Amino acid sequence: MTTPHSQPLIPAPPLPSHRLSVLISEEEIQKRIEELSQELAADFRDKDPVVICVLKGAFIFVADLTRRMNFPVTTEFIRVSSYGNNVVTSGEVKLELDLANSVSNRHVILVEDIVDTGLTLQYLRANLQARNPASVKVCALLHKPENNVKLSTIDYLGFRIPGKFVVGYGLDYQGYYRNLPYIAQIQDLQ
Ligand code: 5GP
Repeated sequence: MTTPHSQPLIPAPPLPSHRLSVLISEEEIQKRIEELSQELAADFRDKDPVVICVLKGAFIFVADLTRRMNFPVTTEFIRVSSYGNNVVTSGEVKLELDLANSVSNRHVILVEDIVDTGLTLQYLRANLQARNPASVKVCALLHKPENNVKLSTIDYLGFRIPGKFVVGYGLDYQGYYRNLPYIAQIQDLQ
C-alpha cells in the first residue's frame, strides 16, 4: 500500500512495554522534595536565586520543587546531552540549548535529575562558573555513588541509589517513561 505521495507505509514500532519495578515511590519523592525545599528556603530565602533546570530529565523535579519554594526565585533552562539513546554515557557532554538570560552576580541553584559518572555536572559547573555567578550550588534528585568517577559535590541530594539504570519522574528510556510519577528500574535491562 502507498501514501498519497507514493511512500511505502512502514508499520510504527511497538510502544515499549518493559517490566518495571518501583525503586522510589511517588510518596517518598514528594516527602523528600518538601524537605529539600525547606533546606533551600533556609539558605536562599533572601538571595533572589535563579534555579537552572537541566533538561530534559529535571523538568518534573524542578516543577515540583519550585512550587514548594515560597520565596522569590527565577527559573532558567539549559539542555545538555551525554547519553543519546544509550543507557551508558558517551563520555562527551554537548551543550544543546543555552540559558536565555545572564546569571552574572546571581546565586545559582543548578537542578539535576541524576548524577551518575559526574561528567555532566563537571561540565555544567565549569560552564556556569565562567559566567561570573555570585555562587553555584547543586541540587540533584538522585546520585549513583558507585559510578561516580568525578567526585562531584552535591549540595542538596534527594536519594542515593544503586548504579542501575532508572526511569520515571523525568528520566527516560529512549524518550519514554518520563511521565511516571515514581522512579523505577527496567527489569529486562538490568
Ligand atoms: P553523568 O554525566 O553524571 O554520567 O550522567 C548524567 C546524565 O545522564 C543525567 O542527567 C541523565 O540524563 C543521564 N542518566 C544517568 N543515569 C541515568 C539513569 O539511570 N537513567 C536515565 N534515564 N538517565 C540517566
